[in-house]
Amino acid sequence: MEKRQELYRGKAKSVYETDDPDHYIMLYRDDTSAFDGKIIKQLERKGRTNNHFNFFIMKKLEEAGIPVHVEEMISDRECVVKKLKMVPVECVVRNVTAGSICKRLGVKEGLELEHPTFEFFLKNDELHDPMVNDSHILAFGWGTQEQIDTMRSMSFKINGILKELFDKANLILVDYKLEFGLYKGEIMLGDEFSPDGCRLWDKDTKKKLDKDRFRQGLGEVIEGYEEVARRIGCPL
Ligand code: ADP
Ligand code: UDP
Repeated sequence: MEKRQELYRGKAKSVYETDDPDHYIMLYRDDTSAFDGKIIKQLERKGRTNNHFNFFIMKKLEEAGIPVHVEEMISDRECVVKKLKMVPVECVVRNVTAGSICKRLGVKEGLELEHPTFEFFLKNDELHDPMVNDSHILAFGWGTQEQIDTMRSMSFKINGILKELFDKANLILVDYKLEFGLYKGEIMLGDEFSPDGCRLWDKDTKKKLDKDRFRQGLGEVIEGYEEVARRIGCPL
């Protein structure tokens, strides 16, 4: 497959057109951002780690029946993906309280939720990704009711699969963000699943092994990601 011009440069990845109209090449850079892109830093090995991590997780999800955009890893930092028309919302599932829900609802970090929560956030850095609900998605034409229902049910199905996978590695899947898009009319999981977009804590010590190490200046950020990869058997 021939890589053509860069179509979009996001905060962490770049999307390239190819000679195939149905596929993009996604390049994972070492850039790491926090606080809606206000802080950006280069972290060595990050692009490579997240590409391998995401490929491993997406293939596990595909095996479990989730339609995913990832097709082939063509280098340590590059992956061929299906070209999706992205739904401009982030889907967040939480099993344990942390991050924005603590500020918004005034709850302590670390509360185990008997029923996981599901939230939509509009993808818009300038507006700091405000929370939206089904009626906003319908009113502004970002998605149909059927697409909303599919994104919600797939997000919960993914929770069942990944909670178990991380549990076996003595890790707690605290929360995570997913993005979906349309491929030939069908909702499909897009973007990335890596420690950049989820929270993972060691079950015994509650040590954070995800992007909160970067957000909170805890150090050894990529070492944390690599530790998770090692524990779940993901080759890097
Ligand atoms: P951001 O846009 O939030 O800064 P990234 O740096 O990760 O994020 O850039 C990747 C961009 O590519 C995101 O905007 C994401 O929505 C989009 N994207 C992810 N997967 C696909 C896909 N399969 N087809 C088209 N766009 C995608
Ligand atoms: N998340 C993300 N991108 C975003 C916002 C959140 O990947 O733009 C992830 C984040 O890493 C966490 C989950 O979604 O795993 C929930 O994030 P939260 O709403 O708590 O926001 P935060 O305070 O982390 O910005």
